[in-house]
Amino acid sequence: MKTIGYAASAAGAPLSPYAFERRALRPNDVAMEILYCGVCHTDLHMARNDWGWTTYPIVPGHEIVGRVIEVGPEVTRFKAGDAVAVGCMVDSCQRCDQCRKGEEQLCREGITQTYNCPDRMTGDITYGGYSKHVVVREEFVLSVPDGLDLSRAAPLLCAGITTYSPLRTWNVGPGSRVGVIGLGGLGHMAVKLASGLGAHVAVLSRSHDKQADARALGADELLVSTHKEAMVKAGSSFDLIVDTVPVRHDLNPYLPLLDVDGTLVIVGQVGPLEEPITTPLLLGRRRVAGSPIGGIAETGEMLDFCGRKNILPECEMIRMDAINEAFERMERSDVRYRFVIDMSSLPGRAA
Ligand SMILES: [Zn+2]
Ligand SMILES: [Zn+2]
Repeated sequence: MKTIGYAASAAGAPLSPYAFERRALRPNDVAMEILYCGVCHTDLHMARNDWGWTTYPIVPGHEIVGRVIEVGPEVTRFKAGDAVAVGCMVDSCQRCDQCRKGEEQLCREGITQTYNCPDRMTGDITYGGYSKHVVVREEFVLSVPDGLDLSRAAPLLCAGITTYSPLRTWNVGPGSRVGVIGLGGLGHMAVKLASGLGAHVAVLSRSHDKQADARALGADELLVSTHKEAMVKAGSSFDLIVDTVPVRHDLNPYLPLLDVDGTLVIVGQVGPLEEPITTPLLLGRRRVAGSPIGGIAETGEMLDFCGRKNILPECEMIRMDAINEAFERMERSDVRYRFVIDMSSLPGRAA
């Protein structure tokens, strides 16, 4: 299937139109027309080879929403016209203990990522959602529940599940005390989802500037992390802190905020942090953990939860040809809170 997308051809190159082929349908494949694709920080890092493992050309995008246009003969759950979504992974071994219990994101053999990853059968590098069409095996395609606004649902597929999964892992519910560090794409979803689950939610921020925004998103309070007295007073007052900061930073101010057996879970930064001081970890049996996206079943559960509660990301819709400017604005944190590409702005047709 001929299609068109936007690709970067080298680390310093802007994204530009790129014509390529999607694979012919395998028996268990679903072909979809992409309507919307969210813009994740990972897209920017990968397009620029910030982590050193990018293969060019790269077509980023792993927050994908669209409609089924065709299915392979063995597909049972989808038919043409269905509203569907694809997130950060498009395949896994399907046999290991983690895959069997629905934690495909932890597959022992490693997941096949939606872009910049070798296909398990052909070895071809996967291309992501900054394109008109995508072909994905049925097991990694999700139904979008009725009533969930398709134009705003895309960021749920990475930012949503990345923050929902740790909330569920650590049993957040009514009575839980949850802190959220960072109020970007992930952080704003952590606030909405934790609040939707019934938790008391505090945004941890370096200044008062985000007070009104935090409230509007559903937070109960904003704790200013540079305010010494307030931080001392907030000691041992959180069960879970979701740390969404996507760059190197210092955990030490936050660890004493956790209650005994509390957990700070890192979902943003991939790479080094400032050196941690272990004293508060030992004294309070506190933990620092990490968490990657979530399994397919849990992603479906999250979509249903958002449908029921009408929880949607705050999005700024852009045209495909505005992506390079959007990357620059993301680097300055100049977005509230997620860019979503309207794929109808992408010219070109499939054969
Ligand atoms: Zn992402
Ligand atoms: Zn597996």
